[in-house]
Amino acid sequence: MQQTTWDVIIIGGGSAGLSAALMLGRSRRRVLVLDEGRPRNRFAGHMHGVLGRDHSSPLALLADGRAELERYDGVAVRSGVVVAAHGSAPAFTIELADGERLHARRLLVASGLRDALPSIRGLAEQWGRGAFACPYCDGWEARDRRVAVLAASAAQVHQAQLMRQLTARVTVFAHGVELPDEARAGLLARGIEIEERAVAEILADERGSLRGIRLDDGTELASDAIFAGPAPEPNDPVLRQLGADRAAHPMGGEFAAVDAMGRTSVPGVWAAGNVTDPRSSVPYAMAAGSMAGAAINADLVEEEVRAALAASAA
Ligand SMILES: Cc1cc2nc3c(=O)[nH]c(=O)nc-3n(C[C@H](O)[C@H](O)[C@H](O)COP(=O)(O)OP(=O)(O)OC[C@H]3O[C@@H](n4cnc5c(N)ncnc54)[C@H](O)[C@@H]3O)c2cc1C
Repeated sequence: MQQTTWDVIIIGGGSAGLSAALMLGRSRRRVLVLDEGRPRNRFAGHMHGVLGRDHSSPLALLADGRAELERYDGVAVRSGVVVAAHGSAPAFTIELADGERLHARRLLVASGLRDALPSIRGLAEQWGRGAFACPYCDGWEARDRRVAVLAASAAQVHQAQLMRQLTARVTVFAHGVELPDEARAGLLARGIEIEERAVAEILADERGSLRGIRLDDGTELASDAIFAGPAPEPNDPVLRQLGADRAAHPMGGEFAAVDAMGRTSVPGVWAAGNVTDPRSSVPYAMAAGSMAGAAINADLVEEEVRAALAASAA
């Protein structure tokens, strides 16, 4: 049986992967998007800060994106979990969890990240509902309300100051983190309270909505929204396996190093979206995917020019 070689296999069908597929499909490339179907913002009922889609469902955006791709007959979007990738440009083989092997000339990794939440009882149940990561995504909805910022690290001081722009009722729960003197002074100067007692549990009402925070000593404090600093863990085993260079990120952790077009250190392999940058919001992921899609098409065109020149010289 003759094996199919796709021009590009895209690992991950979130905002970044689907945007890349759109650019490639419009360039008449044969593209396969393989998606596990667990986008990072699947916990959120509404998505914000996305022009034209503000306060709309994040899953509806992806469903619309997949529907738009149906216009392009070279593009296929399939469920599947990629567990391995081998080879080098122009011949990559990827392996799915069910053992299937697929082949492509180029790879784009757009597999996002996982948010490792601080280990506090009840927090996971509130994720995307009453507890959030990003003031730009969910801060405005908490304006003038009682906001708790869980200081998983000193970086959350910045988050608390961003939230102070939206409400005067901000409390930082230091939760064992030693806040630097300067940061502490900045919080107090802007009327932000600092709670030193450890957090024991996040409390919900009978409908599951956020109610407040129980401290270790049993005190309960009412809260309307929590901002927490999860540790971002890129879904990048495929990039590691291929040997892509990584770089320390200012927000912590190491992420695949890419150039402005998403090119990794491995020839023929690109990466885009949250897998390269934890700050990447939906518009940013779309832009990065779109850039990578265009760059991959340009790279394929260059290969085709070389092949045409070689053929005409023969
Ligand atoms: C609670 C919450 C709320 C948020 N709200 C907003 C908001 O309001 N506005 C905003 O702009 N941003 C928001 N974000 C950020 C947003 O989730 C990201 O910007 C966006 O998801 C990044 O897109 P992506 O394509 O890089 O990754 P993702 O959307 O995470 O997509 C990656 C896809 O790849 C799949 N995948 C992973 N590994 C594999 C594999 N091995 N094989 C196949 N598929 C794989 C995943 O299952 C997933 O479907 C929010 C995030 C969270 C956690």
